[in-house]
Amino acid sequence: MKDSKSDISRRGFLGASISGLVSAGMISLAPGTVLAQDKTKDKATGEILYRTLGKTGISVPIVSMGAGAAADPAIVKAAYEAGVRLFDTAANYQYGANEQMIGNVLSRLGTRDKSIIMTKIFVPGQRQGLEGDQWTKKAAALLDGSLKRLKTDYVDILLVHDVASAEDINNPDLIKAMKKLKKEGKARAIGVATHRGMAEVINEATLIKEYDVVLTAVNFTMADDDNLMGAIDNAVKAGKGIIAMKVLAGGSRWPNPDSRANYSGTTVTRAALKWVLNNKNITTAIPGFANFEYMREDFSIASDLAFTSEEKKLLSDNNVKLSMGFCRQCEQCLASCPYDTDIPTLMRTHMYSAQYGDFRLARNTIDEIPKHRNLSVCTSCSECVAQCAHKSVDIASKIAELKLMYS
Ligand code: SF4
Repeated sequence: MKDSKSDISRRGFLGASISGLVSAGMISLAPGTVLAQDKTKDKATGEILYRTLGKTGISVPIVSMGAGAAADPAIVKAAYEAGVRLFDTAANYQYGANEQMIGNVLSRLGTRDKSIIMTKIFVPGQRQGLEGDQWTKKAAALLDGSLKRLKTDYVDILLVHDVASAEDINNPDLIKAMKKLKKEGKARAIGVATHRGMAEVINEATLIKEYDVVLTAVNFTMADDDNLMGAIDNAVKAGKGIIAMKVLAGGSRWPNPDSRANYSGTTVTRAALKWVLNNKNITTAIPGFANFEYMREDFSIASDLAFTSEEKKLLSDNNVKLSMGFCRQCEQCLASCPYDTDIPTLMRTHMYSAQYGDFRLARNTIDEIPKHRNLSVCTSCSECVAQCAHKSVDIASKIAELKLMYS
């Protein structure tokens, strides 16, 4: 990854104290990780750190805004004024209202040309049953809707939304449709967004030259996922830009206070964000924030990636990881379900409602599950529970809660 002028690579990565922890086995860092520089040096400059997104030439601060849950235009404005430049949205977030809000704010601020808009089209339901030219027509119609709501004639990054397998993204008709939008100047860069089957999706996207960018779920609970970390590393070597989401694994917004043990919400958030961004394969992270407090907290690390002693302690605390209840979307439970219930997507729905408090996104997500794999087919037999690779996910309780909310 090529770094811009203010990027941390120029300043030398010392991180001696963290190196000590790594070599002592107290912190596990992902392959490709570059340790952050000495804190005092970052403090001396106070500059916002920028990185360049693969071969796209798009340079962006390391902390961006996951805007999907935000409904107050003042938050978007405040984020821009704080230094955020990349705004992540999607055609289906808040049924289009989210794109509309971002379009209104950037247009009022007159900062479209200084902002990076990333949006997503083609949720799984919109991809079903398309053939041949229908892909191109549908893609054009979906993006035109987004452009209208965003009050612009181009987006900087356009992603295929919610892909979970290689076959989701290697369809030549889909690639042709996305490529056409780029050629027409309606999207500066194209790619895919994945929070499930991430390693497989990233490996496939790496092979497809048309895709420039991958937005992937990645956070410190996945530190030992060699397949994912290796896939990210290879993608970057092939010139793809990697953007991180689900970076807080629920973060300071974990519903169970026990899982935070004695750590403050700020410590959890800052440690989790820094862990992701100390991996220089990641260009930027898009933590979701919908209020001023979270915005300030998330962006506070944009000029300083050095860990505090408390943050190091949290990252090396196995009890935290074990008690988090975060579903890694690893799909290990799937084969155990006699009814083929889409458990990972249900777990994600639960996270959106219980942890993010974003009931619209939760509704969208559960509605995307085909009926024959949704809650109605689950008999609560609990066959899946023993198969979950991460016992603290507590599938049975989460399914029961979802049934109360959505059945
Ligand atoms: S519920 Fe458990 S096994 Fe299933 S996808 Fe999530 S973490 Fe993996």
